Amino acid sequence: MVEGSGARITDADGNRYIDYVASWGPMLFGHSNDRIKQAVIEQAARSMGFGAPTELEIRMAERIGELMPALEKVRMVSSGTEATMSAIRLARGFTSRDLIVKFSGCYHGHSDSLLSKAGSGLLTFGIPNCPGIPEALARMTLTLPFNDSDAVTRTFAEHQGKIACVIVEPVAGNMGCIPPAPGFLETLRTVTARDGALLIFDEVITGFRVASGGAQALYGVTPDLTTLGKIIGAGLPVGAFGGRADVMAMIAPDGPVYQAGTLSGNPLAMVAGLAALDQVSPTVYSNLELATRKLADGLADAARRAGFSVACNQVCGMLSLFFGTESVQDFEGVMKSDADIYRKFFHKMLNAGVYLAPSAYEVAFLSTAHTADVIDQTVRSAEQVLSEIKANR
Ligand SMILES: *Cc1c(COP(=O)(O)O)cnc(C)c1O
Repeated sequence: MVEGSGARITDADGNRYIDYVASWGPMLFGHSNDRIKQAVIEQAARSMGFGAPTELEIRMAERIGELMPALEKVRMVSSGTEATMSAIRLARGFTSRDLIVKFSGCYHGHSDSLLSKAGSGLLTFGIPNCPGIPEALARMTLTLPFNDSDAVTRTFAEHQGKIACVIVEPVAGNMGCIPPAPGFLETLRTVTARDGALLIFDEVITGFRVASGGAQALYGVTPDLTTLGKIIGAGLPVGAFGGRADVMAMIAPDGPVYQAGTLSGNPLAMVAGLAALDQVSPTVYSNLELATRKLADGLADAARRAGFSVACNQVCGMLSLFFGTESVQDFEGVMKSDADIYRKFFHKMLNAGVYLAPSAYEVAFLSTAHTADVIDQTVRSAEQVLSEIKANR
């Protein structure tokens, strides 16, 4: 790809596409958003970075805290991977416990502890367990089925007082889009609190995508720690973690849990992220929700009219289409969907000028630049493409 503007991008051969990858999520306001672009240009003229704190980091932390009050203290890092890795270390340091719980199909970046049965690329390429991770470390990660509250309760009963934290994508977004089952996040909250373990919401995707307060606001469940990335950098490399002040006080130099980063809080990333978060408002999310629903309904209708059974899951700004199934609520459901039809759908949509994620297990991301016209055009392409796929079967 070589350039983008709003909802559209252009590749090196000059082909134009409607973009639903959105740099894997960060482009909430579309490509080359004026305010974000201008902020980056002005900051680049001042300096790219000092290795010393700037007021920008403080403003970023304050803005995050306004939008997500559970983040009483925030530490900036340079990627989502760093955010989750550091949050896990902090949870282990704070609780003096080693075990962690994650869910199959959730992806939390590529640090050693978090790659077991992970989503995203590992799911696409069929890598359930990544070589290179010491077995002693892998044993410290307990992987449970997403949306299975009983499994969580059972696991805590079995390992009472041994689990440092549960980390979860509050809306799974790396095995396709799977909203939390009613009561699932609440169970995680209750069970962790009872056992003295920490609850970490990995909101690297959902943070400022599904609501102005993230998934924790949308579902009304408050975690101890939250990890952020993607949208808060608006396309530049960034991550953050934060949460309860007493827990965050354990991080060096206030406390003994070490964490540092040469480019953390980098001014370019901060101005880009601030220019994005300054544009966040309730209207942004009500419009995004409408656009997402319109696209989801349009795609699901088109698929059904072409004779495909399909499940279309959506939460504000993110959606996925699972072929060959009526309902997908967990990792098993994802694995039962027909990735082969998706593959054909992806390639034909690409030829028709619509760039979806090149994997049946990644979601489509919308931006504020995905207007009704853009969505209508996408649905028309999908109708055409799906009838062709049907005819060739
Ligand atoms: C993308 C992602 C990460 C990792 O972020 P990087 O910036 O790619 O390291 C972590 N958690 C979730 C939920 C993600 O979607």
